[in-house]
Amino acid sequence: MASTKSRSKKYVYTFGAGKAEGRADMKNLLGGKGANLAEMCRIGLPVPAGFTITTECCVDYFKKGSKYPSTLRKEVEAALAKTEKAMGMKFGDPVNALLVSCRSGARKSMPGMMDTVLNVGLAPSTIPGLIKKTNNPRFVWDSYRRLIMMYADVVMEKAEGLAPAEGKGIRKIMDEMLDQFKHGKGHKSDTDMTTEDLQFLAEEFKKAIRKHLGKPFPDDPALQLWGGIAAVFKSWNGKKAVSYRRIEGIPDHWGTAVNVQSMVFGNMGDSSATGVAFTRNPATGENKFYGEWLVNAQGEDVVAGIRTPSPLNDDTKNEQNKHLASMQEVMPNTYRELDAIRTKLGKHFKDMLDIEFTIQEGTLYMLQCRVGKRTGTAALNMAMDMLKERLIDEKTAVMRLAPAQLDELLHPIVDPAAEKKATVLAKGLPAGPGGACGQIVFTAEAAVAWARDGKKVILLREETNPEDVEGMRAAIGILTARGGMTSHAALVARGWGKCCIVGAAELHVNAHARALTVKGQTFKEGDFVTLNGTRGYVYTGQIPMISASENPRFQTFMKIVDKHRTLGVRANADTPEDARVARAFGAEGIGLFRTEHMFYGEGSDAALFLLRKMILSTTVDERRKALDELMVFVKRDIKATLAAMEGLPVTIRLLDPPLHEFVPQGAEKQAELARALGIDAAAVRARGEALHENNPMLGHRGVRLGVTYPEVTEMQVRAIFEAAAEIIKAGTKCKPEIMIPVTCDVNELKDQKAIVACVHAEVCKAMDLRQIPHMVGTMIEIPRACLLADNMAQESEFFSFGTNDLTQMSFGFSRDDIGSFLPEYLGRKILAADPFQTIDQEGVGQLIQMAVQKGRKTRKDLKVGICGEQGGDPASVGFCHRTKLNYVSCSPYRVPIARLAAAQAAIGK
Ligand code: ADP
Ligand code: MG
Ligand code: MG
Repeated sequence: MASTKSRSKKYVYTFGAGKAEGRADMKNLLGGKGANLAEMCRIGLPVPAGFTITTECCVDYFKKGSKYPSTLRKEVEAALAKTEKAMGMKFGDPVNALLVSCRSGARKSMPGMMDTVLNVGLAPSTIPGLIKKTNNPRFVWDSYRRLIMMYADVVMEKAEGLAPAEGKGIRKIMDEMLDQFKHGKGHKSDTDMTTEDLQFLAEEFKKAIRKHLGKPFPDDPALQLWGGIAAVFKSWNGKKAVSYRRIEGIPDHWGTAVNVQSMVFGNMGDSSATGVAFTRNPATGENKFYGEWLVNAQGEDVVAGIRTPSPLNDDTKNEQNKHLASMQEVMPNTYRELDAIRTKLGKHFKDMLDIEFTIQEGTLYMLQCRVGKRTGTAALNMAMDMLKERLIDEKTAVMRLAPAQLDELLHPIVDPAAEKKATVLAKGLPAGPGGACGQIVFTAEAAVAWARDGKKVILLREETNPEDVEGMRAAIGILTARGGMTSHAALVARGWGKCCIVGAAELHVNAHARALTVKGQTFKEGDFVTLNGTRGYVYTGQIPMISASENPRFQTFMKIVDKHRTLGVRANADTPEDARVARAFGAEGIGLFRTEHMFYGEGSDAALFLLRKMILSTTVDERRKALDELMVFVKRDIKATLAAMEGLPVTIRLLDPPLHEFVPQGAEKQAELARALGIDAAAVRARGEALHENNPMLGHRGVRLGVTYPEVTEMQVRAIFEAAAEIIKAGTKCKPEIMIPVTCDVNELKDQKAIVACVHAEVCKAMDLRQIPHMVGTMIEIPRACLLADNMAQESEFFSFGTNDLTQMSFGFSRDDIGSFLPEYLGRKILAADPFQTIDQEGVGQLIQMAVQKGRKTRKDLKVGICGEQGGDPASVGFCHRTKLNYVSCSPYRVPIARLAAAQAAIGK
């Protein structure tokens, strides 16, 4: 059975000559590159023929211990024959040799993280025929030396798992040989090398391979092809690819496809070229064709930043490249053809695409297209433009922005007023928007280490390569001296919405000496610079940042978002200022107002003093007196926040932390308090000691305080009702929701609700009101409360999941002490994600689901929300939507992100 099943598996899909077995929607099987190559063929674009070996084959290859499935060879032979026919050439033929590339391509694009080998099939048996056919020996030898360099690096070294020391890799050795040779001959550029030079180098390279890798270079087309295919599979498990997958959350079991495709050559002379372009501007979103190209070059030259690429057209020209000739100027006809393809692709894919093309002696070929990475600003602008152009509908527009990209839109920019006064140190290309101010570091390792120490760093490199990704991730900004808008640094930074400037040519970076010189000034590691990634300007020192101004397009977009969402979004806010920020970001209420926050930070002295007085009281009478004084402050804060929310609900949590947190530590502070209170310093110390607990987070806190000191609850509730009554009397609405924290049993709620009812009656009477609208509910943060949620709901009108504590208590992880082990848990994949950042849907999620079901069984209209940090995490928001919560509550700045995530969950991702 099993064998028939595996035999029926189709591993190879062909494309070419206007036909294709694959389609754009087959990305899981064919990888993004393979699926879109097929699609481009289908819509009649000029794509060199070839075939795609499926991701499934890659998975099976690894299952078999790095061996090909038995049916693969036959399928590849048949597909190769089809390709040969479409191209009118034959692989390995001495007279009319077809050359191919072996290209990687996973479901999701992983730019530059996996390997590709070009010019496969060039060998002493095919070289003479190709020279004769092309009448271009220089081109043939150039292609051959490129094949040797790539093949040795990718197939013979990386795929074999060899990991030579830094600078000892075969690619580096050959690069140095090439440089030395050019230097010796006085050549400035690769293009100065003669046929003889290239032929000589090829032989030298082969000697070096034998010497350093102990094996000869396989001068046999068939061996090269199968070696190339295996190497692409293996590059799925290469170090770069694995670390990129960690960052991007791409599962290891997907595998990569291999695209074997007929070569076309951009390095055949001055009528040949290669380029990379975006169908719309990926930095701003403008509906303008945007790209870079190089005459007489092979594809990877543009991306590698080896030569500074030229602008594709007028729209791409800038300060740095305006002196270089554009394709629009040099090859106007081919440019028009490409521009027509751009239009066709835009209409067909209804999105901005990133394309690769090659021109071989005046003939244009398409080599790749995929949905292009873009900045948050560009994503917003393009979604709104395409909606207006009726290319997409509202739902699609809502899905076009990743919630994390909104974060970037709301990110700080360099304060324009301060920037005007600053002098520009250097100019580069604006590759990633926003501003960043930080200390420069010269290596990815340093970036990671410094960031771990809480420093904000700018990673400064000559140019970046895939080995730098972790450092790029850790840095708040990226700055390179070389490379264009499609260089590695630019692509990666844009994908992450990170501030980035590339190609700032005035910078002289000496990574070895950790020194940067610019216009005679020298900077060292740790010196501050400020980047304006939107303009490409670098400044010395620190310039203040401001938050991005409210942009009307963003507002319109968010209106559409709100139309499509059902989940409510509130904010966690403890002050009237926070409440106002939250409302400006679209919060529909406050999900968590922490009473204790009025005792922390600026302006809290008076309230804190009274709280301490209350704590130090030894009799109920004393305590009441202190509480009466304290109430003035509590009421003032609550009233201002209720008023700021203008009738929207505000969930006010009663005092939560253990009291001893408020007793001053240290003899000096204690003496000061004693003096102020007119009591003995020893008494303060004694009280502090008496309040000491071994495990305060599980100690005398939350509702337990309210049970043992009912007057503390009473004061808070009175403050809430009096504040509300005064607002109502003044003719405005307000909706306080009293939340009792850290509960584990319904009797705790009964106990506290009796106090609430009593105070409510008293305040109504005093203020001459029939009632004060309010709700009483509880924070669910102890697993026992979830288990008994049906009981809890008898006395609760609402539940709010305190997912921080619920996670802490479900895992048994102290939230404050995870630093010592969680990184290792994540690194070794013991846990897939930090449960304090994203709800552990598997475990904690079950408790939440159960509590919601049980609670609503008791009380049909039970209002349920969450107020933990995870409330602003898009995946957690999706979970809350599916679990039918009424709302999520998160920090004010994450409110727009939660709104978008909620809409996307409703539309169904
Ligand atoms: P990546 O996924 O890293 O972009 P690609 O498979 O796209 O890798 O290949 C790298 C470069 O080689 C690209 O610029 C591409 O245009 C070029 N290339 C790949 N296959 C061919 C081919 N058959 N003919 C000409 N150029 C090719
Ligand atoms: Mg590519
Ligand atoms: Mg808590």
